Amino acid sequence: MIRTTEAPSSDLAEAVAGIGRFARPTVRLHPRPGAPTTADSHIGGPLLWPASEPWPRCAAPDCDQYEGIPMVVVAQLKATDFPEITFPAGADLLQILWCVGYHCCPRHAPCHVVWRRAADVASTLDDAPEPDLEGELPGFYGSSIPRPCVLHPERIIEYPWHEELPGDLWARLQACDESRDLYEEVATAPGFKVGGSMDWSVGDMPALECVTCGTRTGLLLQVDSFEGDGRWCPLEDRHLVYGTPGYEERIEPTGMDIGRGGSHGGFFVCSSDPRHPVLFHSQ
Ligand SMILES: [Zn+2]
Ligand SMILES: [Zn+2]
Repeated sequence: MIRTTEAPSSDLAEAVAGIGRFARPTVRLHPRPGAPTTADSHIGGPLLWPASEPWPRCAAPDCDQYEGIPMVVVAQLKATDFPEITFPAGADLLQILWCVGYHCCPRHAPCHVVWRRAADVASTLDDAPEPDLEGELPGFYGSSIPRPCVLHPERIIEYPWHEELPGDLWARLQACDESRDLYEEVATAPGFKVGGSMDWSVGDMPALECVTCGTRTGLLLQVDSFEGDGRWCPLEDRHLVYGTPGYEERIEPTGMDIGRGGSHGGFFVCSSDPRHPVLFHSQ
C-alpha cells in the first residue's frame, strides 16, 4: 500500500534563495508490523544469511554484562528497492545489526553492517541466535529489538540540519519567521528513513566524519521511536483513531525506544567508501 506525506504548505526552495541546491532526497520507509521474508527489504525481519557464516556477536569491551551477546537485526535493504544507497561494487544487499546489551555510551551502540551479494548465499541460516535477556527488566533491552516490519518506501525532499548549512544562509533563513517555519516544516522527516538529514535538536551534532578516512559521512538509515504526527502522518492513515491498535501500529510500528527517551538515531556511512565502518549516533 502506498503511503503519502502531505505536500508542504509552500516550496522552501522558492521561498529562500540559495537553499535549493542543498535539497536532499530521502526515502521514508513507513514500516508496519508484518511477516517479511529473507527475500524482502524490511526492519527487524529474517536476514538472508549464509548457514556457514558465523552470526555476529558483540565484541565491544564495555559490553561486560553480555560478553559475546548475539547481535539483533535492525534492517535488511535491497539495492533494487533502494537505488539511492551507494553499494560497494558487486553487492546488492545491505544488512544492519546492533547490540542490545548495556554499553557505557548508549548514544553510540555497537553495530555490524554487512554488504553482500544475494546470489552468493547458497544455503540460508534458518534459526538466527537471539540474545538471552531472561531476567532483565521487561522492555529495557527489549525496546532495542524491532518487531518485524514490512516497508512502504516513499521518496520526499528534505534539507540539511541547520548546523550543516552555510552560516549566512541560515542567518537569512532565521531572519524571516515564514521561512524559518517552512524550514522546520520540511527539513527533517521523523521516523524510519534512508538518506536525508537527522534532527539534532536534543543533543549536539557530532563530528560526522569517517573514522577511517576522515571523509564526511551521510545518513544511511534513521531509526526512530515514533513515525511523527501532523504533516508526517500519511494521508492514507489519517482515519486511524488515537489509542486503537491501527494507530499504535502507525505511530510506533517497530516498538523500539531509541535512546531510551522516545528519540531517534542514525547509522552513518562514509561517503567515500561504504565499506569503512558504519557508526551509530543517537540523540
Ligand atoms: Zn554489546
Ligand atoms: Zn571513509
